[in-house]
Amino acid sequence: MINWNDVDTVLLDMDGTLLDLHFDNYFWLEYVPLKYAEKHSISLEQSKLELEPRFEQTYGKLEWYCLDYWGKELDLDIVALKREISHLISFRPAADEFLHNLKERGKEVIMITNAHHDSLSLKLERLSMAHYFDKLISSHDYGYPKEAQAFWYELEAAIGLNKNRALFIDDSLPVLDSAKTYGIKHLLTIQYPDSKKGSKDIGSYESVEDFKHLIQA
Ligand SMILES: [Mg+2]
Repeated sequence: MINWNDVDTVLLDMDGTLLDLHFDNYFWLEYVPLKYAEKHSISLEQSKLELEPRFEQTYGKLEWYCLDYWGKELDLDIVALKREISHLISFRPAADEFLHNLKERGKEVIMITNAHHDSLSLKLERLSMAHYFDKLISSHDYGYPKEAQAFWYELEAAIGLNKNRALFIDDSLPVLDSAKTYGIKHLLTIQYPDSKKGSKDIGSYESVEDFKHLIQA
């Protein structure tokens, strides 16, 4: 699947790749609608009907990932609400072993996430993983999400990235398409980003079913 001799730098997405996407899916699709319904004294169904199109308008844009934006839009304390269900934040199977293994192999390991800083901080507080990374980069630092080509050029300039010797793993197909267009040589996706849901569409990408396969490669 991967010849580690061809890879110096491993770029890793956070949510749905290293971490179980169940937390984020539950938060946005159930918990936020519930709190919004309570605030406006409407039913949960009505709340979901109102929120869905508002969420959809922002998919793939930086706003979708921006907690400040949603805090203002919905007049809810998004960070506080995330904290209320932070017990649901967890690694995907063997993700921490994989991170440990990458360091043992001497790879440069960089997290690149579209997650907002407050969201990233909460996850780093909850799970011990910051020490595995040479750098942790939120696309909010650059002002472009990973879906945009500009993100990759900013990244290249910031870390001196050699895209021919980089592996990038992400559960989002639009993000992988963007990385492919930019020219990242090795790309992998995740077949089961949410532990509570089935297999997702992996497009034409090779997928990681279990990080143990990559550890053993
Ligand atoms: Mg992701």
